Amino acid sequence: MATKKPTIAIVGGGISGVVLAIALIRRDLNVQVYEQAHAFGEIGAGVAFSPNAVRAMRACSPDIYAAFEKVVTHNQWPSKKNVWFDFQDGYDKNSKVGEEKVLFSLTNDYGANSVHRAHFLDEMVKLVPEGVTHFKKHLDTIEQPTSGDGKVTLKFHDGTTAEADAVVGCDGIKARTRAWMLGGDDVPGAAPVYTHKYAYRGLIPMERAVEALGDDNAKNGKMHLGKDGHILTFPVDHGSVMNVVAFHTNHDEWPDAKHLTLPTKKEHVYEDFKDFGPTVQKIIELLEPNLDCWAIFDTGANPMPAYNKGRVCVLGDAGHATSPHHGAGAGICIEDAAVMADLLAESSVHRAGAKGFEAAFQAFSDARKERTQWLVQSSRRSGDLYEWRAEGVGSDAEKIHAECKERNEQIWNGQIDEMIAEAKSSLATILKA
Ligand code: FAD
Repeated sequence: MATKKPTIAIVGGGISGVVLAIALIRRDLNVQVYEQAHAFGEIGAGVAFSPNAVRAMRACSPDIYAAFEKVVTHNQWPSKKNVWFDFQDGYDKNSKVGEEKVLFSLTNDYGANSVHRAHFLDEMVKLVPEGVTHFKKHLDTIEQPTSGDGKVTLKFHDGTTAEADAVVGCDGIKARTRAWMLGGDDVPGAAPVYTHKYAYRGLIPMERAVEALGDDNAKNGKMHLGKDGHILTFPVDHGSVMNVVAFHTNHDEWPDAKHLTLPTKKEHVYEDFKDFGPTVQKIIELLEPNLDCWAIFDTGANPMPAYNKGRVCVLGDAGHATSPHHGAGAGICIEDAAVMADLLAESSVHRAGAKGFEAAFQAFSDARKERTQWLVQSSRRSGDLYEWRAEGVGSDAEKIHAECKERNEQIWNGQIDEMIAEAKSSLATILKA
């Protein structure tokens, strides 16, 4: 008689949950996704993927890479295809609009590729078979047997429950699974922490952007640096739209810990960037009069001691939410998913039953902790480098260049095959012990 295939429950259907679900389904595993929203949904903003993330997509499944290729947008000038960003002096008040001094450029194999989040998710969702995802399921808590092969129980807010052999929490920056693992909502690390940076975001039709800023500034990835703030712009939607993210630092507390996004007015953007030069002023002019302000929280103050607890594990932002200054948070989630999928597909895990899943999650945690937690800290440092706040560096463009290059290359050069091999070798050792 054939043994029944184990079921993996995924909590959360954001980029991490959906990518992991597809990767596990492609490895012929039983998967159920529980998402609190009434449908899959992403915001209408851009997200960029570095070369390590693109390699990880391929490792998860060629379909995911194909979905990405369908919606990806690169810098629009062929000569800038490999440029990640031109870093420009946004503070230079003497330059004309569109003529800021370029301080340095960083390049990699994929340049400033970016996707419209919602469009990328739409493409990936097509790869998830019907019946796998259960919407309006907000996880409240988890119960797992203390010994033996009994199932892990997920308890939802609507009073229903579900059972699985193992649970992966992909429930994002405010993860219930993380709070459950750490032992409660008030335990340090359960809640994310404000980084004292926030961001305004906007999407500008490309024609308007070109008219206002000139071809190069509108159509290619640009980072406008300055004191206590920086603005980045890059093309999305196959070059029909310019994405704007304007970051600012201040010492105040975020006013509403429940809502990480609050509505605001363009006057506040002008106020925050009043000392910046004319190109930055022109970018602000292009934004809508009413817009959203996003608080940048992360898990950097209290990194998790481990991503696993028995047959429950966290992955993506649920385990290591980062500020976005490396543009690598979602990419590292995809690396996580590739490593997790290959571990859970190992036949040795299934043969060992409950102990097998515990071992796979232990191997995942051991393999992923250092790189993912380094990213959170390095991203904080990068945000400060862009805003002339980094100790020992200030506004010294040469030093900013050297440090940004080194830090980004550490991310971009990450080889997913090596990460998977290392995790599998650790799994073998744990299973033998
Ligand atoms: P989420 O996207 O938060 O998804 C979590 C899902 O879980 C959601 O669908 C949610 O509804 C669901 N959920 C939550 N709680 C529960 C519950 N209790 N029960 C059931 N479901 C639940 N990364 C990059 O790589 N490149 C970039 O350019 C980039 N830019 C960024 C810009 C900004 C301003 C920010 C804030 C982040 C940026 N990131 C970027 C980071 C990236 O957005 C995140 O790392 C990524 O989206 C995290 O995906 P996730 O699936 O882990 O979490």
